[in-house]
Amino acid sequence: MLAPHADALIEHVRANRDRYLGELKTWVAIPSISAQPDHRADVRRSAEHAVERMRAAGLTEALVLETDGNPVAYGAWLGAPGAPTILIYGHHDVQPDDPKELWTSPPWDAQVRDGKIYGRGVVDDKGQCLMHVAALEAHLRVNGKLPINVKVVFEGEEEIGSPSFEAFLAREKERLACDVVVVSDTAVFAEDVPSLTTSLRGLVRWEITVHGPTSDLHSGYYGGVVKNPLEALAQILASLKDAHGRVVVPGFYDGVRELSPRERAEIAALPFDPAKEAHALGVPELAGENARLPLERMWFRPTLEINGMYGGYQGQGTKTIIPSFAKAKLTSRLVPHQDPDAVKRAVATYVQRVAPKGVRVDVEVFEGDAPAVETSRDHPAVAAAARAMELGFGKPPVFIGTGGTIGPVSSFDRVLHLPQVLIGVGLPDDAIHAPNEKFDLHQFFGGIETMTYLYDELASALK
Ligand SMILES: [Zn+2]
Repeated sequence: MLAPHADALIEHVRANRDRYLGELKTWVAIPSISAQPDHRADVRRSAEHAVERMRAAGLTEALVLETDGNPVAYGAWLGAPGAPTILIYGHHDVQPDDPKELWTSPPWDAQVRDGKIYGRGVVDDKGQCLMHVAALEAHLRVNGKLPINVKVVFEGEEEIGSPSFEAFLAREKERLACDVVVVSDTAVFAEDVPSLTTSLRGLVRWEITVHGPTSDLHSGYYGGVVKNPLEALAQILASLKDAHGRVVVPGFYDGVRELSPRERAEIAALPFDPAKEAHALGVPELAGENARLPLERMWFRPTLEINGMYGGYQGQGTKTIIPSFAKAKLTSRLVPHQDPDAVKRAVATYVQRVAPKGVRVDVEVFEGDAPAVETSRDHPAVAAAARAMELGFGKPPVFIGTGGTIGPVSSFDRVLHLPQVLIGVGLPDDAIHAPNEKFDLHQFFGGIETMTYLYDELASALK
């Protein structure tokens, strides 16, 4: 539904495009690299700059909030009594600019070429933060108010894994209270395929140690009577999956939801070529649960991965031993509705059960796991975001997942227990974290218009 005043808003943001580009350049010029201690003051300057920008946009509260690490830029406008409250998340820190010599134009002097703006942080994530500031400002200048209460959090440590963010959320719980979190730090599936991310995988970890003799043994003396720990480890690891790529650990898939026929059809319709993907990755073909679509496997199925294994002699030439131990590191990417504790137990129990005789096996189960995060596509906030995106980009978005874990999204889930809408508009080829990072202007301006609609849509959907 198009709010009656939307035309004036869209006219306003279109008339101000050059100004938005100038503002993005100004912010990009502050090298807020969180990974490098030399740039600590720049990260703070970047937070202060964002606060100034939010104040100029008309937010009634705008201040730097301290964390145990780099500061957060915070803004709020709470003048809509009775209306819902959203919290917008983005981050103002950026990746280093190395390797510097591969940039076509200077990373901190953003330049526009061929309909794209190039510079460090243009899309990850300063440009996406600015989409919201521009859209909020449009509402406040054109209408003098927002249809919804808004809190804005621009974090300063996302690029180093958000080490202070969870404690910050816990401490500022009351200030940050809201109905829904809007995260703009993701990409769409492909150019001209607007998308909303509704599912992120979680992570659990194990380390397996197979203990054999108390020290390495001479394989000539003892070969034939002592079980080799590396062989035992190989047998254990090989028994985790069947020939079709399916994990055979009992209970491993408990809770995993099957996609509906509609969801599977949507995934099948996305532009994805397995042969091309395999070629790009340098493998003869894609592998995994072969009865399922690759994108389904990447987003909506759990994995069990061997990340490393070692033991025995690793030097030059040959050393004729039976090694005293063997180790392997394993992780599992979890999907929504899997219980991390149950999965950890199931794998540990199974490993002990299939361990061959003649060795002793320890399974260390690590703490600090991240469960998967999901926002139902039927949630009214997701439906509202989909309508806003359709208005902003001219076609309805597809719903996608992401195979990885986004730290702040997990933290919001764990600390605030809130539904989250992941509405980012970057493109997969934006070269984030690499030289020549860019933001396509079509995406930037479309994103501003999308956000302009989003606040109205959320206001009516969450009433
Ligand atoms: Zn980012």
